[in-house]
Amino acid sequence: MSLSSTASKCFVSLVGAGPGDPDLLTMKAYRLIQTADVVVYDRLVSEEIMALVNPNAELLFVGKKLNHHCVPQDQINQILVDKAKEGKHVVRLKGGDPFIFGRGGEELETLVDNAIAFEVVPGITAASGCSAYAGIPLTHRDHAQSVQFITGHLKKDGQDVQWQSLAQNNHTLVFYMGLKQAPTIRQNLTEHGLSIDTPCAIIERGTTTKQRVLTGVLSDLDNLAEQAISPSLIIVGSVVSLHQQLSWFGE
Ligand code: SAH
Repeated sequence: MSLSSTASKCFVSLVGAGPGDPDLLTMKAYRLIQTADVVVYDRLVSEEIMALVNPNAELLFVGKKLNHHCVPQDQINQILVDKAKEGKHVVRLKGGDPFIFGRGGEELETLVDNAIAFEVVPGITAASGCSAYAGIPLTHRDHAQSVQFITGHLKKDGQDVQWQSLAQNNHTLVFYMGLKQAPTIRQNLTEHGLSIDTPCAIIERGTTTKQRVLTGVLSDLDNLAEQAISPSLIIVGSVVSLHQQLSWFGE
């Protein structure tokens, strides 16, 4: 490869891989993973999607599990910079959408600091993918006029979340990374006025062939969470009652 063509490839594509089902990749994501020189990916990117990656690409796993940080974030940022500076086209592949609880913004800030060009390719976020595949519309004229995505990585006392604003009727709540915090979520929502009978669901490994949908009401949430494994999404709100009628995937 000539020097000039090497230099021109110094570029990072921050790409959302969607929630798991490879058919939910965007055309752009599909094209980019097939032509990348380097793919930096994490735990949430499904095996089926990794099977579509350019077989000649260098693959770097930087996956993280709760409390088991494989590669610290600043090191991931540095890998992106170093590989791009080698003149490579780097695809930073993330589960779901890179700008929703994905630290995509932090990675881009490092690229800006190092004057590395980039693009962002959105992906289907877990809330959209899991709700669609579970037959739970996030909004519905008879049930919810608004929806909120919340991280379950709460401070120990849960003080960082405005529970009062979450505990509303006609509103859907989607908690990412919420399994371990299920008791805190249940307690705060009910203390702030949400009925213990509010429908809720946990969608485990949504959109994959291993998808499981556990449903109940808010007072069951702790039990449901104990039965589920990561990655799982928690949905709270009256829309969950539609699941029984609208469920279609894996039937
Ligand atoms: N950027 C991702 C979210 C990363 S945070 C996105 O936009 O989807 C990781 C959390 O996402 C997990 O703890 C889980 O709550 C949720 N998640 C991601 N993929 C999921 C899946 N296939 N099924 C259920 N939850 C999922």
